[in-house]
Amino acid sequence: MRLENKVALVTGASSGIGKASALLFAEEGAHVVVADVNETEGQAVVQAIHDLGAKAAFVKTDVSRAVDCEHMIAFTEKTFGKLNVLFNNAGIMHSSDDDSQATEEEVWDLTMNINAKGVFLGCKYGIPALRRAGGGSIINTASFVALLGAATPQVAYTASKGAVLSMTRELAVIHARENIRVNALCPGPLRTELLMKFLDTDDKKQRRLVHIPMGRFGEAHEMAKAALFLASDESSFTTGAEFVVDGGITSAYVTPQ
Ligand code: NAD
Repeated sequence: MRLENKVALVTGASSGIGKASALLFAEEGAHVVVADVNETEGQAVVQAIHDLGAKAAFVKTDVSRAVDCEHMIAFTEKTFGKLNVLFNNAGIMHSSDDDSQATEEEVWDLTMNINAKGVFLGCKYGIPALRRAGGGSIINTASFVALLGAATPQVAYTASKGAVLSMTRELAVIHARENIRVNALCPGPLRTELLMKFLDTDDKKQRRLVHIPMGRFGEAHEMAKAALFLASDESSFTTGAEFVVDGGITSAYVTPQ
């Protein structure tokens, strides 16, 4: 098992990438803390992990709030004794996120607070716990839009993911000598609730699909596999990476028809 004797904390673990990763990490031997604002779905993930015969616990967390992030880390150490893997994955894409003219300041602030500040707060409180464990792995979910301009305008989301990627690089450099690795997962467009709610018409979905060489949306479990590599000791020399898992979208100039 690839995460035997490890304790992993996954934010945004009630749905999508976070849920798939929490389940896969547990299958690979980790004790998993499921952190999310959505308690009902989060408890269901914990139950599914228990059904696998593995250990998990839920902690209600709004990653944009410092008190919640401090608590989720304390909860993890109290419940399972240590923290080895911190997956800062929670994020939103607001339905009113648009171009710079149409996007309201409140949408900008909310998006930055959850997507970018949430990662900062996870690291602020999580890094001391990783140090206490002798080091560990941090994975921050960015996006392909941190690398390419999106065809569908979503200015706040794009800016927030650029912040996650650049923050990841700095954290990787600063903490490299402490045996703490920090990598960004950059997913392409996925068939999860987050994107399917945003691309809410066939036309919008098609406008995105046309840019993906593989011609399909990615799946949450495909991101979980990448996160597992970054979480495990198999990626022991990987830090500061923009780990792109995107069906080829960032490599495409013209997509095959
Ligand atoms: P999802 O909507 O399925 O899951 C997101 C989870 O985050 C939900 O459980 C939600 O309750 C939780 N969440 C939202 N706000 C929160 C907060 N303030 N505090 C704690 N939890 C909160 O979406 P997903 O596609 O699995 O997205 C996961 C991550 O992947 C996000 O950071 C997203 O930006 C990123 N991402 C998604 C795509 C995509 O196409 N879906 C592409 C690139 C990156």
